[in-house]
Amino acid sequence: MSKVAGEQISKFLKKKLNDLKNEFGENSYEYTSLARQYLFDKRETEVDYKSERRRHYEADLTADSSGHVLTGVERLYRRCAVFELTTACKTRCRWCLRANYNPFTLKKDEIENAARYFGSEANRDELKELLITGGDPLIVPDLLNDALECIQKYAPNIRIIRIGTRLPVQDPDMVFSDKLAHALRRRDGMRLEIGTQINSPVELFPESVAAYHKLQEYAERIYNQQVLLKGVNDALEPLVQLYEKMRDIGIEPHYMFHCVPLHGMEHHRTTVEEGLDLIKSLVTSGYISGRSKPMYTAMTDIGKITFYEGVFVDRKGDMFLLQSRYRYEDRMKWNPDWKMPESAEVDENGYLRVWYKDAKTHNKGWESTYIME
Ligand code: SF4
Repeated sequence: MSKVAGEQISKFLKKKLNDLKNEFGENSYEYTSLARQYLFDKRETEVDYKSERRRHYEADLTADSSGHVLTGVERLYRRCAVFELTTACKTRCRWCLRANYNPFTLKKDEIENAARYFGSEANRDELKELLITGGDPLIVPDLLNDALECIQKYAPNIRIIRIGTRLPVQDPDMVFSDKLAHALRRRDGMRLEIGTQINSPVELFPESVAAYHKLQEYAERIYNQQVLLKGVNDALEPLVQLYEKMRDIGIEPHYMFHCVPLHGMEHHRTTVEEGLDLIKSLVTSGYISGRSKPMYTAMTDIGKITFYEGVFVDRKGDMFLLQSRYRYEDRMKWNPDWKMPESAEVDENGYLRVWYKDAKTHNKGWESTYIME
């Protein structure tokens, strides 16, 4: 494990980075599209990132209605809650906001408390789906097994479990463990889906493809949430390659996220407008299957907002005011602990709006690296 400025890189990825550098060179797209995701960049130190980074959502639920303490539970939406078993990952992605979270790994009683909350009378009718994320829940298979057992026992209203992981592209051997096979076994009344994050076609090494095929034995669906990253996938060609490969493997598109405004990580971000140009080209080019089209979406302080017509209602400098159809009163109903962030406001119809920070400048200039065989 590397100790350079918060770097944490699996042996698998270290070897791949080395191999790509030797085979294609340090300036090649093959090497840089992986290196940019995981290696420290001195531009990160241009601001005091330790003090300025923060969480993105403040959606923690701290206690259920009976006063039992809840840990690792977030709720922003009606039918879906987020459950974090651990904040640990196999490899740390430089731009990820989860690095700001206080580190924890849940204990068995905390898992049971959360499962009882998910299945409580207050939630039984509306809460149908759970996203188990982190961190990477596949690196704690025993806890994942405990969680799925508790949910099956205490929260049968949860019919769909989504599990977020980057393990197949970060340490694919771990996907083949017996413990994971046990945790992910088919369970009555529960449908498993795997959410993953693949950002560059280079990441789909044969070992990673095999790991995704292994996960397809357990999960009904695997879907991808790609982050739009400068120098990794901010041009049509790598995106077309990525979505073509995903189609072949059977990984569905979900979101193309605009990279979150994380202080010190500006060099990873494109402008919103660059992303709009790109998504238009991607989904209307005829280069990818009609079943491969992601939704271009921002993770704002009030939740995800997909960039449809009418979403942009104002602009001041590099800040956009985005219109959501999240109702303030619904949000408070589902999460009484929720505090409206300073960036948000309620419009005359009771819907939430939020200011969202764009990237500072258009900064193309990486295209020369997109020369792939
Ligand atoms: S693996 Fe996922 S949770 Fe972990 S650092 Fe990367 S993006 Fe964040």
